[in-house]
Amino acid sequence: MTSQLDAGGRMAERSLVISDFDGTQTDAEAGYTSALRVLTGLDERTFASLLLGFESAIKEHPHRHGVERGGKIVASAIVDPYLRMQAIAKLILDREGRFMDPIDRANLLEHLYLSNYSKTSIVPRQRAVEFMSALNESKMVDFCVVTNARTASVRDKLYRMGMNPDSIPLHGHAQKFELGPEPAHVPEWVNLIEGKSRVAYPRRTKYFEVLDKLRRERELEWSDITVVGDIFELDLLLPFMLGCRVILLVNDNTPQYEIDFITECGEGRAHVFGDLKENY
Ligand SMILES: [Mg+2]
Repeated sequence: MTSQLDAGGRMAERSLVISDFDGTQTDAEAGYTSALRVLTGLDERTFASLLLGFESAIKEHPHRHGVERGGKIVASAIVDPYLRMQAIAKLILDREGRFMDPIDRANLLEHLYLSNYSKTSIVPRQRAVEFMSALNESKMVDFCVVTNARTASVRDKLYRMGMNPDSIPLHGHAQKFELGPEPAHVPEWVNLIEGKSRVAYPRRTKYFEVLDKLRRERELEWSDITVVGDIFELDLLLPFMLGCRVILLVNDNTPQYEIDFITECGEGRAHVFGDLKENY
């Protein structure tokens, strides 16, 4: 940790904890299946059976399905209900031959996502409020949330969780999905599954810019920073490659290969937690 003088002139250990929000501080449930059914024109029964079939296909082979950018999978679909629904929607639309133009398709999925995001029922993860409050009040640790979501919707969720939205430093629209050339000193890709082809891409330029700004403002080393998230390759792979400590919060859908990767390649600074702990 980096030692700095605090306001009273004493030496204080300083570190920074950065948390993702959706799925990490909340258990989200996506609900855009009814809109999707109307768009496909399918009857309820057929639609429900397609939905179930594709969902179990994704669960069976989680490494094959994900959010894509330029033909590369940039986040697994299975962990997060929104991403899982997007993957299922894609499979259903492909099968029905609807919205086959890539731009129409992307716009439609984006619209379904945004119009349903705010309707999500908010269930805080166990101890989420205690976790965020304890870190936020700590004199030893700085705390902030870095999320792909818009700050306004996260503020709304914090309020509904009974927290003061102004109390938590929020950095929204972090664009963690977007790949780019920087940071050039981390590998362009790493293989997540031994013996099988499932690569993940740590060079997320926009996300890197957000993390690096937070680090430089506090004059910290990467090793002073802990990042908490629920989607390994989206939230944690880049900070891990930069030298941060990372904590993967798992749920029932976390792919085993992500847990194995952390266990085998985590160098003692990547951890798997089942729940948020106030004393991490
Ligand atoms: Mg998340």
